[in-house]
Amino acid sequence: MSRQLIAGNWKMNGTRQNAQGLAQALVARLPADAADVVVCPPFTLLPLLADSLAGTALALGAQDCHKAPSGAYTGDISATMLGEFGVSYVILGHSERRQGHGELDDTVREKAIAATKAGLTPIVCIGETEDQRESGDYTDVLGWQIKGSLPDNFAGVLAYEPIWAIGTGLAATTEQIAQTMLFLREELVRQFGEAGKAIKILYGGSVNADNAAAILGIPEVGGALVGGASLDADAFLSIVSAAS
Ligand code: 13P
Repeated sequence: MSRQLIAGNWKMNGTRQNAQGLAQALVARLPADAADVVVCPPFTLLPLLADSLAGTALALGAQDCHKAPSGAYTGDISATMLGEFGVSYVILGHSERRQGHGELDDTVREKAIAATKAGLTPIVCIGETEDQRESGDYTDVLGWQIKGSLPDNFAGVLAYEPIWAIGTGLAATTEQIAQTMLFLREELVRQFGEAGKAIKILYGGSVNADNAAAILGIPEVGGALVGGASLDADAFLSIVSAAS
């Protein structure tokens, strides 16, 4: 299996002062044989972090991009613009954007195409609500999200983030993750054939220093997308150390 990927999604957190300190602490203590590691700060911190992470093993990511390379899109940022700051990953279709900004699968797919064109690796998020999980048809939801959000010839990473596990401190159980991962892999192979076997699948939702080893040890888990715990150097580095 390829190296696992640990991605820190800082969400709307971080000032110039504390971001610099956090990034420096991570770089200084990143294990030599670490998994691939990326931090995704808000747009405003990208220039600062691009400078402090240049030439280090810590990659830089963003949390969204527009589908067009430029144009009359007030308030948006394109994938091409992100590329200028050494950004190599971009999180797309996070449930907080789907819910808070009305992003639909089609939009997410178009953004993924734009990101790939600009040389970035998209991390496309999918996940079911608590109601959908409880009603038992969550696999249909996930299947449709994959079908709608991933472009043909998808060259990125899929992140499975059950919405009920995000920011709740209540991660999915290892059994739930294991079962869902198998379903997602089958679905990727159904949609992409042989190429679907190589698409990395991350788990996200209340990953922390205590549960990381168990989660990252589940077959088919290709890494983690970490929210809250990525804002704390000790916690994030523990998660990185649990990866392979
Ligand atoms: P938490 O790790 O805070 O639950 O957030 C998960 C997430 O949304 C990462 O994208």
